[in-house]
Amino acid sequence: MNPEFVQSRWALRGYLLYSRLASLLMVAVGLGSSLEWAAQVELVPDLGGRDMRLTAALCVLLSGLALAVVGSGRRWVRRLASLLCALVVMLAADSLLEYAGVGYRGIAAGLDAAFGGGLRPPVRMAELAACGFLLLGGQGLLILNARALALRELFGLGVLAIAMASLASFAFVLAQQGEGMLQRLPILTGVLLLIAALGWMSSVPTTGLTRVSTAATLGGVLARSLLPALLLPLVYTFTFKLLETRLGMPQIVASTLGAVFTGGSLAWMIWLVAALLDRSERLRETSLHLRDVADTDALTGLGNRRKLDATLEGLLHADRRQRLPFSLLMLDLDHFKSYNDTFGHQAGDDALREIGRLLRAELRPEDAAFRYGGEEFVLVLHGVRLYQLPAIAERVLHAVRANAWPLRPLTISIGGAEACDADVTAASLLQRADAALYRAKHGGRDRFETTGCAECLAGGSGPEAVRARS
Ligand code: GH3
Ligand code: MG
Ligand code: MG
Repeated sequence: MNPEFVQSRWALRGYLLYSRLASLLMVAVGLGSSLEWAAQVELVPDLGGRDMRLTAALCVLLSGLALAVVGSGRRWVRRLASLLCALVVMLAADSLLEYAGVGYRGIAAGLDAAFGGGLRPPVRMAELAACGFLLLGGQGLLILNARALALRELFGLGVLAIAMASLASFAFVLAQQGEGMLQRLPILTGVLLLIAALGWMSSVPTTGLTRVSTAATLGGVLARSLLPALLLPLVYTFTFKLLETRLGMPQIVASTLGAVFTGGSLAWMIWLVAALLDRSERLRETSLHLRDVADTDALTGLGNRRKLDATLEGLLHADRRQRLPFSLLMLDLDHFKSYNDTFGHQAGDDALREIGRLLRAELRPEDAAFRYGGEEFVLVLHGVRLYQLPAIAERVLHAVRANAWPLRPLTISIGGAEACDADVTAASLLQRADAALYRAKHGGRDRFETTGCAECLAGGSGPEAVRARS
């Protein structure tokens, strides 16, 4: 498994495409609204009967331009994007300062005065729009700054909160229920703030909050499936308020319907999470089972050659100084061909199965037995040095010899080797054990032979040898 964070290419492309479209929409609407103000004509339809203010339109235009170019490979273009975001921050701060009532007269007031005032829509953006654009400018400024990731995402979430609240409150505007600070934020500005904040987040989909939702993992699928649910509170507030105010539905009925739909949505989300977790757990179990099957010898139930190779790789991979000592025993049945020829292949298979059972019974839990080939087996003995092998091999020889074989007594020959030298490999270790096995066969069978370097034949002189002996 790749330790890198694996991402879904489709999700990444989707985010980048969205970011591009959002920037185009922002530039178009920002430009249209600005021209509308300059030429005093209607270019952009005013959602909810309220036009976007000039400074807000400029902020939308500047952020849209910045978002469009921020992904550029050229440094000066990225600097330009930062400059545009800084202008957005400045315009928003300007309006906020005018609202602060400290006698500050900035760009908005200046423009208003220059054009003799009374122009529609007004120059100065709404209070919440100013807060939103201040945060949006900050989000854009920090977009490529890896160290300020948390702050950037916090700015983005702030913009989303303002935009969502504005959209939800739109229902109250339609119901003509007074006018608060939220309602003074034009719905178009609210929608654009939402699109813009998500656009900035999508422009760097491999970082921040969007990162997990692009992952090609269960978490990624979950995040992508549940993201639209973010809009549910907004949609419900909007819909049920409208039903109540426009269609005259009694408040109690509208609220009940709201509760039913909210409960239903929650149940659906719980079901979705549970179904995804269930599927992933099943897949995990299946893959673990398949791995076991791929590593197991079907006849004896012992590990197969593949598993032995992987086990040896794992043991030899560790740094020589940190590596724990271990040894191999290679076993081969004596005169097994004649056993097969005399009693048939089926009886031979039964005998191999019985050997597998005997080996498992003889081994300590931390050791492992593998079927290496036809009637050859390998035992991997952890923490065992060469000088300890004869006793263990003798125990195995005895177990096979003393077993109640139903057709004819069977014996085995054993060759042993220790992984003692620094440059030992799986192949050289097996080859050494095989050479010892060959000598055991030629020495008369039903016996054990070993090969090893001078140091391990002497039991080793290093600290681990002393530890192993004690
Ligand atoms: P030696 O003592 O020298 O080992 O003599 P041997 O007859 O055992 O010779 P060898 O090790 O070459 O024997 C291989 C025989 O093992 C050949 C085949 O009949 C038998 N054999 C190998 N795999 C299987 C198997 O999966 N099932 C059965 N029944 N027999 C097998
Ligand atoms: Mg053989
Ligand atoms: Mg044999």
